[in-house]
Amino acid sequence: MTYQATHSRLPFVYEALPTRVIFGSGTRSAVSDEAIRLNMSRVLILHGPPHIGMADQLASQLSERHVGTFGGARMHTPVDVTEVALALAVRLRVDGIVAIGGGSTTGLAKALALRTDLPQIVLPTTYAGSEMTPILGETEDGIKTTQRSLKVLPETVIYDVDLTMDLPSGISGVSGMNAVAHSVEALYAREANPVISALALQSIRALVKALPAIHADPGNRSARSDALYGAWLAGICLGSVGMALHHKLCHTLGGTFDLPHAETHAIVLPHALAYNAPAIPDVMAKLRDALGIADVPSALHEVNRAIGAPRGLSEIGMPEDGIEQALEQAMANPYWNPRALERDSLHRLIVRTYHGDAPIVGN
Ligand code: NAD
Repeated sequence: MTYQATHSRLPFVYEALPTRVIFGSGTRSAVSDEAIRLNMSRVLILHGPPHIGMADQLASQLSERHVGTFGGARMHTPVDVTEVALALAVRLRVDGIVAIGGGSTTGLAKALALRTDLPQIVLPTTYAGSEMTPILGETEDGIKTTQRSLKVLPETVIYDVDLTMDLPSGISGVSGMNAVAHSVEALYAREANPVISALALQSIRALVKALPAIHADPGNRSARSDALYGAWLAGICLGSVGMALHHKLCHTLGGTFDLPHAETHAIVLPHALAYNAPAIPDVMAKLRDALGIADVPSALHEVNRAIGAPRGLSEIGMPEDGIEQALEQAMANPYWNPRALERDSLHRLIVRTYHGDAPIVGN
């Protein structure tokens, strides 16, 4: 009988990204030791509105190594905010950054690192995964541009499940689905490789189980831990391989109609997977095996229901007359996707996501 390879699809390239990760509960107490490891003696702390108290605690831990705090991080990393923080960093002769918050705060840390090459310690409080990627998206004059540079990859990431316990249940669910989207698209990425696929499947399994449990009981520490673990792995996937239809569509929709990031990902994901499904039978089989579910796009749609995600893009601010515009933009910038971009099918996909209908495989 001929031996068929089941784990490795040849050839492939795997490149590890050099971030030190500390994972656990109470791990934020490692911040001072990490600052010393990275030779930081003049630290700037970055945070957003919910983390004023936590930023103060980190400042106490860092003691005389802490020289300043900037609390103005904003969604989509506006360049004008970065410039204010940069001026402060220069004035204070900062030699290291500690960032606590979601993807918005991490984005600001990365934007500063791009301009200064300062080392970063990041303490994530959502499941967005930006801390594991060498990718930076910035917004200027309403236009979002994305670039890759190892300069922006944090040196140390401290995952402390305690920091996620107060993440409101509504944000937890959609932020977690944002992470699931990274892992799903990694499975059929052009650069897919068996190492990243293994991480992706484990991440999806962890998140799909944990997110409804968190919605039912936001204080469920075990589910919080699994979700954070899944989000870490999802971040590795996002940073390691290219993304496709789902991420491009969310980028277009979010940018054009100023839609909230995580909610847009949660709504679009079941539909993007359903669209691609006919072109990726091996990936769909792996997903079915990993989750023990026959119809994975419908199951993801059900997870959205279980976590109380908005049903459709109409609920989060997309205008109905934006459907045609979204379609034109999705077709205008061709990009790699396992299934060719077919105008009529994509149109049906966008209409369904707008109304919050169930996904249909093959569209
Ligand atoms: P976010 O950081 O804006 O956080 C969402 C909301 O939750 C904010 O209001 C924030 O203040 C609040 N929040 C965060 N943690 C909290 C906590 N523990 N308790 C209470 N409230 C809390 O959003 P996000 O979804 O984490 O990240 C989205 C941003 O990250 C977008 O700008 C996106 O483009 C970017 N992103 C970048 C990458 C990348 O690789 N470059 C990857 C994913 C996301």
